[in-house]
Amino acid sequence: MIRTRVMVLSVLLMIMNAAHLLPAQAAPAKLSVHWEELTAADFREGIHRAQGTCLLPFGILEKHGPHLPLGTDLLDVRYASLHAAEQEYAVVLPEYYFGQIAEARHEPGTMAYSRDLQLALLQETTDEMARNGCKKIVIVNGHGGNESLLPYFAQTQLNKPHDYVAYVFDKRSPETGGPPKKTSMDMHAGESETSKMMIARPDVVHIDRAANESGADQHRQNLPEDVYTGIWWYARFPNHYSGDGSAATQALGKFQMDWWIDAIVKSIRAVKADDVSLKLQNEFYEKSKHPLDTQP
Ligand SMILES: [Zn+2]
Repeated sequence: MIRTRVMVLSVLLMIMNAAHLLPAQAAPAKLSVHWEELTAADFREGIHRAQGTCLLPFGILEKHGPHLPLGTDLLDVRYASLHAAEQEYAVVLPEYYFGQIAEARHEPGTMAYSRDLQLALLQETTDEMARNGCKKIVIVNGHGGNESLLPYFAQTQLNKPHDYVAYVFDKRSPETGGPPKKTSMDMHAGESETSKMMIARPDVVHIDRAANESGADQHRQNLPEDVYTGIWWYARFPNHYSGDGSAATQALGKFQMDWWIDAIVKSIRAVKADDVSLKLQNEFYEKSKHPLDTQP
């Protein structure tokens, strides 16, 4: 009788212990999309839930006209990426702003890392992400000055084998649609970018200062369109301002930001569904070890 009671008691205790352990082991229903907010155990679950898909929102620190903060591209790209990852789960890397911005070195607050470091740091960052299970890395570009750097980085992934794919998503505004724009020159800190900041961080937009400097094209170089120099941007926009931020509206910002978030969501879904790129990369790496054996 006593033995039976002891047995019943120990079985009960086992059940209670198991019940007690369960909540600690089970993954939470909602996981943060912020890499830095996850516990180690939740990170493991996050990578699993994201099917190995991670975002690297790529910003910069540079002057944005007389009225927007230095971190405009960083703040905007993180706003769009984090909202997209909330809709289609992905793990989002913390602040990254180590890109190409040599052309703004004459302005206060620019952080312009050297060419070699930009590439080395990005490579080590994506390698480290992949070592932690991010086998599909979407670099979401928030900065126009990275438009050559990022495709070059992606191209050079073919130099040696990687067990992950680096995808680049580089579009921040739709071609058409939405509230009609008032300006035609709108490349940097202008109508579109100012409008988007009015959504992401309206508290740091100084719209009253937007007309304090000229964002007009100064056409100071006389070369055919297809002859390129690094100084082209400075020649045209020496104030590091292209357009007119005073034309910005919240309505345009909302339209463009919603479009951007939706476009990132679609990219995450496409990347999750992509089972071809890594296979082709591996086939390519294998063939490139002995090119003379490659037959048409
Ligand atoms: Zn910008």
